[in-house]
Amino acid sequence: MSHFETEAIRINASKSNQREHSAPLYLTSSFTFDSAEEARAMFAEEIQGNIYSRYANPNSSELIEKVCAAEGTESGIATASGMAAMFGSMASLLQQGDHVLASRSLFGSTHQLLTRVFPKWGISSTYGDISDIHNWEKLVQPNTKMLFIETPSNPGLEIIDLEWVGKFAVAHNLILVVDNCFATPYLQQPAKWGAHIVTHSATKYIDGQGRVLGGLILGRKDLINEVQFFTRHTGPSISPFNAWILAKSMETLAVRMDRHCENALHVAEYFQESKDLDFVKYPFLESHPQFSLAKKQMKHGGGIITLTLKGGLSRAQKFIDELQMISVTANLGDSRSIITHPASTTHSKLSEEERAKVGISDGLIRLSVGLEHREDIIKDVERALEKSR
Ligand SMILES: *Cc1c(COP(=O)(O)O)cnc(C)c1O
Repeated sequence: MSHFETEAIRINASKSNQREHSAPLYLTSSFTFDSAEEARAMFAEEIQGNIYSRYANPNSSELIEKVCAAEGTESGIATASGMAAMFGSMASLLQQGDHVLASRSLFGSTHQLLTRVFPKWGISSTYGDISDIHNWEKLVQPNTKMLFIETPSNPGLEIIDLEWVGKFAVAHNLILVVDNCFATPYLQQPAKWGAHIVTHSATKYIDGQGRVLGGLILGRKDLINEVQFFTRHTGPSISPFNAWILAKSMETLAVRMDRHCENALHVAEYFQESKDLDFVKYPFLESHPQFSLAKKQMKHGGGIITLTLKGGLSRAQKFIDELQMISVTANLGDSRSIITHPASTTHSKLSEEERAKVGISDGLIRLSVGLEHREDIIKDVERALEKSR
């Protein structure tokens, strides 16, 4: 096995002895031992095996194996949500007095972690602007331990040069963590460019149908062992059911992403022709400021488009209210197309100044293009644009 699609389908780490074809669901909190000696040896980590579902479960192991194969990472941990993965990756590898350099355009809650949670434990951070990335050298402090980035960013779709940032991390001896949620391992593998840790909100494209929460922390074995110590004893474990859903979803990730990307490019091209927009941003549109970089490190442009309608906030709200099919909800990466107004929802906890710095204007709209027929998506958008004029 070597191709992405084949491994995502054929890895079956959760196989039982019942000759089932489809992966079974292991709803059990603990696992039995054949003897007191076996229990001792497993706890001592002299032999490998399932002990307790807070540590590992066949369903989470299957999910991890599939995503590790997809990302090209050695080892991983599945968590209850994407934020548990973001928190776990940082909290386990950092200690009091450490400093994090992070790209400014981050998921809203990751921004909250760095700005309002970690300072309580003496872990500080500095945000670097992506447009000024070649000056990040000046932002590295003697106590900087980690570089945390997101590319493409949510919701600005800014692209960070992974090759450059991988070398930068090595040069400054930093642990490079990349939140690869928007791209998915199908479109981009940050470990290939030197990321030590790759994190995911599996809630998004990996689930792909808006059913369950989940997160992933993947990377180099020695680092993941440290993270594992932390997650074992703090307990952000994924439920076996959610892991089962997500492992199944991995089997269709490639075909779903192909269609998401195809639909999104088509819709982005439609918007580009529209007179109602100030701008439309999509990584694989030539008008994207980092189009060539996106082409270099991503297989396709992804499923997210951001747009700013002429007429600011009131027009944006009117447009959203006029949509008949596209859902108004805070999720993304769903089979259903979704529209979100970041300034008043996902990024509302940021101050107006912080939002301005990451380019989230009041008129900005994020469209997660789903798997409906592309002509129906455009029909809905077209009608709402007309009605909101
Ligand atoms: C949604 C999201 C998260 C958080 O994941 P949850 O599963 O909602 O906890 C983190 N990063 C990015 C980029 C996201 O889109």
